[in-house]
Amino acid sequence: MKSDLSKLVELQKTDSRIRELKENVETAKDRRAELEAEFETHASSIREVQNKKSNAESRKSELENSIEESKASLERANRNLTTAQDQKQYEAAMREIDSLNKQITKHETEILEQMEIIDETQGVLDERSEEVANLDSDWEEKQSGFEKILRSEKRELKKLESERASVFEGIAPQLAAIYNRLITRSRDGLAVAEVVEGACSACFMSLRKQMIVLLRTTDEIYTCESCARILYIDTEEKSEASA
Ligand SMILES: [Zn+2]
Repeated sequence: MKSDLSKLVELQKTDSRIRELKENVETAKDRRAELEAEFETHASSIREVQNKKSNAESRKSELENSIEESKASLERANRNLTTAQDQKQYEAAMREIDSLNKQITKHETEILEQMEIIDETQGVLDERSEEVANLDSDWEEKQSGFEKILRSEKRELKKLESERASVFEGIAPQLAAIYNRLITRSRDGLAVAEVVEGACSACFMSLRKQMIVLLRTTDEIYTCESCARILYIDTEEKSEASA
């Protein structure tokens, strides 16, 4: 049969895990938001390039249309020039031709600029093509991984919470009361502390040698003189010591 001490150790392990799982479940919403923000930062650097390229493309076709229109006007102006009746009409047609030609040249220059942007951004997208292609699937994978862990943690929490009662049942009422008092009082949720390298792992106080001997050789309940937590030494360590 298990000693009270080992039952308490088991209970503490269960409670610590419950505490950890509860915190994970409670912070899931924030952690999910963090994950999304992290992904957005990553995705936005690619989206920025994609947007820049598509803006340049639509500006380019806008300019091309405008050049088409200018060329149609230019034909009209050239006709007006040949059919001019007087100096005034002739000059007006010349001015229009001049201004249309300037506009066409200006738009052609801007088209070259937009083409440079398109080439540049396409180059970046080609370089990062794998990243671009995997953007959505990576995100889905990341997200479903997160939800999968969360679901399994919720399941484990439910299971441990129902098991906890049976672990608790086997412990003497007096000890159970001490355990409960300690665990509700401590900020880290520890009522039972392992002895590590001769010190209480909860408050780091070095223990007297005599205490360590008692902990190694018996299953009695001893508490830390500093923080009052119930102490135990890992069984493997215990057997090593007695071997
Ligand atoms: Zn202590």
